[in-house]
Amino acid sequence: MKLIFLGPPGAGKGTQATGVSSHLGVPHISTGDMFRAALKNQTPTGIEAKRYMDAGELVPDSVVVAMVKERLAMPDCANGYLLDGFPRTVEQAKALDEISAPDAVIDIHVGDERLLARLTGRRVCGKCNGTFHISSLADANVCPVCGDALYQREDDKPATISNRLKVYRAQTEPLVGYYEGLGKLRRVDCESLPVVGNDCRREDVFQAILKALE
Ligand code: AMP
Repeated sequence: MKLIFLGPPGAGKGTQATGVSSHLGVPHISTGDMFRAALKNQTPTGIEAKRYMDAGELVPDSVVVAMVKERLAMPDCANGYLLDGFPRTVEQAKALDEISAPDAVIDIHVGDERLLARLTGRRVCGKCNGTFHISSLADANVCPVCGDALYQREDDKPATISNRLKVYRAQTEPLVGYYEGLGKLRRVDCESLPVVGNDCRREDVFQAILKALE
């Protein structure tokens, strides 16, 4: 199964990709995580990506496509992949079609109000990579899984969020039409799921994704 998760920042692509990738037995490949790891290791790609990431802009297509091509050639991708955060432009989608075309694309829809609340309250663990929302944390600074320190991503600060959403609408949303045209698009509408507390439940989104893939 070769799968893409499409959706704006804060839609829950990363959270859902973790569960769905282990359910399907394919690797979860997040280009955002790859850039953050590259930056941590101070590789040339990481250093180049940093200025785009900090501004909420997209890293140039050539850089991302080369990175993904190398990753998809690894043995664990022999049975498929789950791409999260790639492609983000029509150019990237066309390049992926040449490298290894996807079977299906899940478009995760979440309204703007909920996206903003999720992004501004998001905290990430530097050690285990877990992602949490402050509303679910007893201590907003401590990872509930491994006990390490949580931090707020630089690009989850309000000034950058609005640009990331703008970039999504302008550059990534056209992919909905692109994959619809190819008959590969499956939509999961989180706004139609029941609200528990102030958001829909992770498990309900997971089930909706599995249903969309049937
Ligand atoms: P994410 O964790 O998916 O929100 O990605 C964080 C940042 O990494 C983005 O705002 C971009 O700067 C960069 N990035 C990740 N994936 C891509 C991609 N496919 N194309 C261009 N830039 C990307």
